[in-house]
Amino acid sequence: MKLLKDRILHDGKSLAGGILKVDNFINHQMDPVLMKSIAVEFVRRFADLPINKIITIEASGIAPAIMLGYLLELPVVFVKKAKPKTMGDMYVSEVHSFTKNRTYDICVSKEFLSPDDNILFIDDFLANGNAAFGILDLVRQSGASLMGMGFIIEKSFQEGGKRLRALPAMRIESLARIKSLEVDKVSFEDNV
Ligand code: 5GP
Repeated sequence: MKLLKDRILHDGKSLAGGILKVDNFINHQMDPVLMKSIAVEFVRRFADLPINKIITIEASGIAPAIMLGYLLELPVVFVKKAKPKTMGDMYVSEVHSFTKNRTYDICVSKEFLSPDDNILFIDDFLANGNAAFGILDLVRQSGASLMGMGFIIEKSFQEGGKRLRALPAMRIESLARIKSLEVDKVSFEDNV
């Protein structure tokens, strides 16, 4: 997606350790106009799937997911990274965070996932795929079907893309695929 790649080149900051900082348009300050274009592109890429619900993970997945839910008129569930005191029955899984280098539980109320659901997962970044596999585990526990996963930015030099594309019957779409990140230099895969 050219608009997104141009914005990454203009405003993204490549940090040591393979981290891309996009705090002024995705992860802290947000650009709703860009976010709308991102959601429109997700609509185009997933329009043929019979999805009835969108799932994401707090916090940075919520903005693109809610934009997409608005366009498709579908409910959006965000998975929580801490167990709320008020939550009753829930599905729980464990995720290791690449950026924070720690392991944490993610959870979702049993009320919001059911075996009839055809789910699309949306998130800001795909790195090693650990968050995505945690989501897949939660969805499988509920008996629902995870049909696709859409990421704003994929770092294709990490393992997540390969691991997820090896899953059967799963559509994986990334709107910008980064081949390499050096300090102050971002290179994209040619085809996206
Ligand atoms: P994964 O679970 O695929 O290893 O990592 C995905 C999660 O880690 C994303 O939800 C995102 O929050 C965070 N993440 C991974 N790499 C980066 C990065 O380069 N920049 C930012 N801002 N977040 C990242």
